[in-house]
Amino acid sequence: MDYNFCPACSVQLPTTTLPVTCPACHETIWDTPACIGVGIVPVTVRSHMGLENRLLATRRAIAPVGLVCLPGGHKLRKETWQQTVAREVLEECGVIVNPETMTLLHAANASNGNVLLFALCAPITIDDPTSLVHDAEVQEILFLSEPPPDPAFPTHAEMFARFFAMIQK
Ligand SMILES: [Zn+2]
Repeated sequence: MDYNFCPACSVQLPTTTLPVTCPACHETIWDTPACIGVGIVPVTVRSHMGLENRLLATRRAIAPVGLVCLPGGHKLRKETWQQTVAREVLEECGVIVNPETMTLLHAANASNGNVLLFALCAPITIDDPTSLVHDAEVQEILFLSEPPPDPAFPTHAEMFARFFAMIQK
C-alpha cells in the first residue's frame, strides 16, 4: 500500500517508498503484509449413511470464484489470530468454533507476501448441515471427505493434503 500522507498525523510524507519515517511525528510506516487466519475445522455430520467425519470448506463466490478453500480472512488489529479464525468461520460457514480450543497447525508464506496461520480447531458435530448460513463471499459450504480437485490456493492445497493424511493415520 502507498501512503502520501502520514496515517498517524496526516503530514505529507517525503516519499511513497516504504519504510518511511514521518518528518513531523517520527512514526515509521512499514511495508508489512497482511496476516490471514485460516480455520481447519473437523466436523462430524449426520447423513443417511450415519455419522461421517469431514473437513469444513467453502466454494468461493469471490476471486478465484468457484474454487475450494478453507474458511479464513484478514486478522484485525484488535483480534487475536484465534479470534480472527472464529469470526471468519462463523461469517463464512455459520459455524461456531471456540478460539480457546485452537492450536497453530502451520504457518505459511503466500506468494503475495502475506502470512497465513492455519488453526486446527476442536472437532464439532453438525446435526443439520442444511441449516448453516454462509455470507456473500461463499457459494456453498462443503464437507470434504478427501482433498478437493480444485483448491483455490497452493497453501490451502497443502493443508487439505496434510489434514487428510493426518486423519488416515
Ligand atoms: Zn506523522
